[in-house]
Amino acid sequence: MVQSPKLEAAIDKLKHRGTLGLSKASKMPCQSWSLEAFNTCAGAMDNEGNEVDACKGCYARGGNYRFPNVAAVRIFNKQDWKRDEWVSDMITALDNDRYFRWFDSGDMYSLGLAFKMLEVMQRTPWCKHWLPTRQHKFEKFQAVIAQMEALPNVVVRLSSDSVIGETIAGATSSVIIPDTSHAVDSNTEVCDAYDRSGKCGDCRRCWSKDVQVIAYPAHGKKAVKLSADIIARAA
Ligand code: SF4
Repeated sequence: MVQSPKLEAAIDKLKHRGTLGLSKASKMPCQSWSLEAFNTCAGAMDNEGNEVDACKGCYARGGNYRFPNVAAVRIFNKQDWKRDEWVSDMITALDNDRYFRWFDSGDMYSLGLAFKMLEVMQRTPWCKHWLPTRQHKFEKFQAVIAQMEALPNVVVRLSSDSVIGETIAGATSSVIIPDTSHAVDSNTEVCDAYDRSGKCGDCRRCWSKDVQVIAYPAHGKKAVKLSADIIARAA
């Protein structure tokens, strides 16, 4: 992939800094570790090779995510997790953290990465991990996802491809809905971050095993239009 000089310089800086590529999304109350959206999202395509609805309006493929410093850390992380010391470095980095979010962009594209993440989760029982993923679609990931789900400090939210609230089976999952007025089942709770200027505030429901489904109202012009168009076509 051809990278701009600014992006290359930002990646180089991270390599020489010698620390993990952790980030902090403004919405979130915690640190996260992310990869490039789409390039690491095998589940973004359906069996016919078409992009699934939920990924068509992905917030992480435009806006701030194109800034060199934001893109660089995600590109850097795709190599960095392969280091022998990555697991122990992650455990040290989470020493004082009570919540952690995997992937505010990207997905758990590699089984090798998945097993390293599992080890981080197992060895940081003081920290609650929230992992949203579409990798549940692939049989080879199901055993490691089940091991993660069995940990008391981990919630794996299986992401639905729908943008109109069609949920999927699973102990804990998530789905996009057109807006907050969309009717949801009794096992579904609607994210209300947008009542707080897009921030989680004190809400930690994504990390709760007691909340089976979280529904996220579509955000961004593209995602909102996509949901509205699908609802209109179905009417
Ligand atoms: S449901 Fe709560 S924890 Fe999850 S994203 Fe929305 S505000 Fe944050």
